[in-house]
Amino acid sequence: MTDVSIQRMTAGADGFDAALRKLLAWDDSVDHQVGESVRHILHDVRTRGDAAVLELTERFDEVSASQLSDLEIPRERLEQALANLPEEERWALEQAGERIRRYHDKQQSESWQYQESDGTVLGQQVRPLDRAGLYVPGGKAAYPSSVMMNAMPARVAGVGEIIMVVPTPKGVVNELVLAAAAVGGVDRVFTIGGAQAVAALAYGTETVPPVDKIVGPGNIFVATAKREVFGTVGIDMIAGPSEILVIADGRTDPDWIAMDLFSQAEHDEQAQSILISPDADYLDRVEESIRRLLPTMERADIIATSLRDRGAFIKVADLDEAADVANRIAPEHLELSVADPESMLPAIRHAGAIFMGRYTAEALGDYCAGPNHVLPTGSTARFSSPLGVYDFQKRSSIIGFSGEGASRTGRIASVLARGEGLTAHARSAEYRIRNDEQEDSE
Ligand code: NAD
Repeated sequence: MTDVSIQRMTAGADGFDAALRKLLAWDDSVDHQVGESVRHILHDVRTRGDAAVLELTERFDEVSASQLSDLEIPRERLEQALANLPEEERWALEQAGERIRRYHDKQQSESWQYQESDGTVLGQQVRPLDRAGLYVPGGKAAYPSSVMMNAMPARVAGVGEIIMVVPTPKGVVNELVLAAAAVGGVDRVFTIGGAQAVAALAYGTETVPPVDKIVGPGNIFVATAKREVFGTVGIDMIAGPSEILVIADGRTDPDWIAMDLFSQAEHDEQAQSILISPDADYLDRVEESIRRLLPTMERADIIATSLRDRGAFIKVADLDEAADVANRIAPEHLELSVADPESMLPAIRHAGAIFMGRYTAEALGDYCAGPNHVLPTGSTARFSSPLGVYDFQKRSSIIGFSGEGASRTGRIASVLARGEGLTAHARSAEYRIRNDEQEDSE
């Protein structure tokens, strides 16, 4: 049996609050050296464009090209990658793509307007971004699911052009990633990565057009670069390690729960898997399952470290207390492995995605349920939401006064502007104030 120890806590016991804070603590400060080197790369790309990107790509990814346009993958090549996939993979990718598209279609928001009795029109116009940049990690592993989860909401939002970047260390291209780009409707793909790719997207180079927003996960160099370019462009979020919180009533097969906890823990050593149950015997049974199943896992070492360093089993009095603890954790993924998840749902206030009932494994959400798998981590579900169509759209306010409306509302503006000592504001409004008997000329 592989040795794995998971800390136990009891909600409401002495020291529980402090223990929970410690469990959730996560240091997201940027390493000084990484910060320095990223700022250097950003400056280099901003000032020297294509030439800098080419040199950095050669240095970090061992890919050389005489011009950056050689590192662009034509759209036909993406379609070809999709067509050449083994039948089963193409089927799975297309099925997932269809489900993700259908879900995101529901997130479309409409422009709206309303008219006041004096003819004044107020409203909001929703428009997609002109151009979005999608970072797809490619250093150590390939993530076709990330391609679709990031590209599909942009496509549904109606983004004018989606530019994807993906590093191909030593020139090794991942066919599934290219095929996913075809399914996701990506327009252009450049095989560049790291901070230099983020810089190219943010500032533009002779070959890479500048985008309005950069989305997608990446390593510390990518995350730091995204932080730095925020303001010049929008970014989605800076994601921390993955998390799962399972609330179990004690009647789900313990092996299922053990595997659900593993499915986060296998991401990396810092991933966090927490189980909450009112049934102490059940917690013991899940621990037994973990000990038995762990040796069968390919990533057993990563899972064991993650469970030991950041995992926990929390005993609660009842499911109401479980919901309270879950709200304090505000997890990225929350599984309600209980008989009646609907009745618990109203009590859940903070979670990136909520998986309802014993059959709903979080893993389905990662690939193909339909909702986005880019979710708020590190308790940020308190104030933020899954990546969605709304992240690729922006809103403009519409304000249209009739003569009568300008006259009436101008009086309010005039008083407030004079109160603030802003005379031009006041007079600008006052010019449009007129006697009541005047006809509305518009
Ligand atoms: P990556 O594409 O993020 O990074 C590779 C790039 O890093 C290289 O192209 C290179 O330019 C740059 N780089 C490497 N060493 C450097 C150095 N010393 N100085 C400057 N630049 C350097 O790929 P990765 O490394 O495999 O990391 C992927 C990350 O994305 C992982 O941490 C993974 O957990 C994460 N991820 C997260 C999600 C999510 O949804 N949260 C999904 C997929 C992947």
